[in-house]
Amino acid sequence: MIPMRNVLIIGSGCAGNTAAIYTARANLKPLVVSGHDAGGQLSLTTLVENFPGFPEGINGPTLVENIKQQAQNFGAEYLHGAVLDADFSARPFRLNVEGEWIETRTVIIASGASARWLGLPSEQKLIGHGVSSCATCDGFFYRGKKIMVIGGGDSAMEEAHFLTRFGSEVTLVHRREEFRASKIVLDRARQNPKIKFLLNTVVEEVKDVEKNLVTGVRLRDVKTGKVWEQDVDGFFLAIGHIPNTAVFRGQIETDPDGYIVSQGGARTNISGVFHAGDVQDRVYRQAITAAGAGCMAAIEVERYLEAEGH
Ligand code: NAP
Repeated sequence: MIPMRNVLIIGSGCAGNTAAIYTARANLKPLVVSGHDAGGQLSLTTLVENFPGFPEGINGPTLVENIKQQAQNFGAEYLHGAVLDADFSARPFRLNVEGEWIETRTVIIASGASARWLGLPSEQKLIGHGVSSCATCDGFFYRGKKIMVIGGGDSAMEEAHFLTRFGSEVTLVHRREEFRASKIVLDRARQNPKIKFLLNTVVEEVKDVEKNLVTGVRLRDVKTGKVWEQDVDGFFLAIGHIPNTAVFRGQIETDPDGYIVSQGGARTNISGVFHAGDVQDRVYRQAITAAGAGCMAAIEVERYLEAEGH
């Protein structure tokens, strides 16, 4: 049986690891449950050029590992595995980590949101090698190159528009004719001469797994059945994100899509349970904003425990 913790942090991306640094430095001996996909979204990127402090940029997995090291240097402990169940009905809170129940006075949920992928084997193999789910992070690498964006919502329109700053051409591929995107965002994309729309079209394969690099795609028109190939250098998914809150459902207040509803600062609807990062943020989703949110949650935990005399 693991002794009762002051704070248990769920997630080891930028938000969770930063919360670990702050709570460790406050002598709260945090336990971080790192999750099955340790490192969060940063572990899926290559070069990160917009995290302040790294003029030459830094590799995504290196950045997140460095933040973890920093937390461990101050005494944060890490437990590999996932939270399978949670009981927030009474204090101390109880969390089931890979079959073992752990008690804790406070919790920081920093379990992130996972990008939705098409699920094609070729797409999965080329993540970080031309396949990306973050235009803000990776657009810069496709200066003068051919870019493809998948999706028909606001994110797809905004990302396609943003990517025209870099790409020689941007093709937006959407599986039907109607869009979820709001009119204003859609109109702006339509008026952009660098964006070409391919509607009623789905991606069958991303090429070229053999070269470990995106060189093109095989597409299919769902109405006519026509199949063809198109050269592409950068392949961006913008088909939504899924917040990792399924295990807390019914206990933590979320919006209809599953994002935690903030009660101000880093507070959730349960006193003593805090949020940090993409699990609550559907707007900014950046490494630096997640790190900032981790810091906020840690400071709130510190004050909360202090007020209780711990
Ligand atoms: P979204 O609105 O859920 O749109 C997802 C898009 O991806 C839809 O067009 C959907 O197609 C498509 N899609 C989903 N799964 C697919 C699959 N397997 N294969 C092919 N296409 C697939 O997601 P979002 O654009 O990320 O937006 C999420 C929320 O954030 C929305 O509420 C949006 O308004 C908001 N947001 C707002 C702004 C803004 O206001 N500036 C910017 C970004 C996001 P179907 O339409 O056919 O289902």
